[in-house]
Amino acid sequence: MVFLAFKANKQYNFFMGKEIASKRRLGIMGGTFDPIHYGHLVAAEGARHAFNLEKVVFIPAGNPPHKPGYIVAEPSVRYKMTCLAIASNPFFCSSAMEVERPGPSYTVDTVRKMAHLYPEKRIYFITGADAILEIFSWKDSQILLTMCNFVATTRPGYCLKELNKRFDSMPKGVKQNISFMEVPALAISSTDIRQRVHEGKPIKYLLPEPVEDYILRNNLYR
Ligand code: NAP
Repeated sequence: MVFLAFKANKQYNFFMGKEIASKRRLGIMGGTFDPIHYGHLVAAEGARHAFNLEKVVFIPAGNPPHKPGYIVAEPSVRYKMTCLAIASNPFFCSSAMEVERPGPSYTVDTVRKMAHLYPEKRIYFITGADAILEIFSWKDSQILLTMCNFVATTRPGYCLKELNKRFDSMPKGVKQNISFMEVPALAISSTDIRQRVHEGKPIKYLLPEPVEDYILRNNLYR
């Protein structure tokens, strides 16, 4: 397992074939972003730096296949908040491809589309470690695991022992494409923000101001 705390890791070039290692790198930040917060932004910026990514494309999940009925805000609203959150970073951009694609938002379809659009780039899919540890339940996971690298971000206090155990049980060929990165700012969580809004508690300094304004103006999560 490769653990990073925002440090670039040169080992990757040994793991990958020469052709892949020499490719330029593009990050995809995948998540429900309900709502997006500073933890996500710090994680994406940390991954961009650590893995030498040219850009990070934020792609909010339209209809997450693993949680029907769970989503609170509409896909277009989560997309809008994502755009507001990333506006000030020239290395960040967003795509509505999952929001606009009908049916469940499978990551394999998204990575396939991005690989088609950017054949000269190696894709790094960044998301929460909890999600990545369930990757074998995702659609076409075996294919997906060969198509891109994964950056699994963890919160502080995440149980590394449990993570190690689950990670160790993965096949070797899979492990080499997954890296873990601890992100202290991920102490912030979307669930907590929704709960705080619901209870009338402040959310200032947990997420960018334009997103906070948008949530309050549109009465989200009440
Ligand atoms: P989730 O189960 O809601 O989140 C799991 C944990 O990861 C939460 O603690 C969450 O915190 C955190 N997290 C989520 N996205 C993150 C990100 N980009 N950076 C840092 N932490 C993040 O996971 P999800 O958001 O629904 O799914 C994550 C990604 O995996 C999405 O792109 C989704 O489409 C993909 N996925 C695909 C499949 C499939 O293809 N079948 C199945 C499952 C997931 P917060 O709540 O604070 O964000």
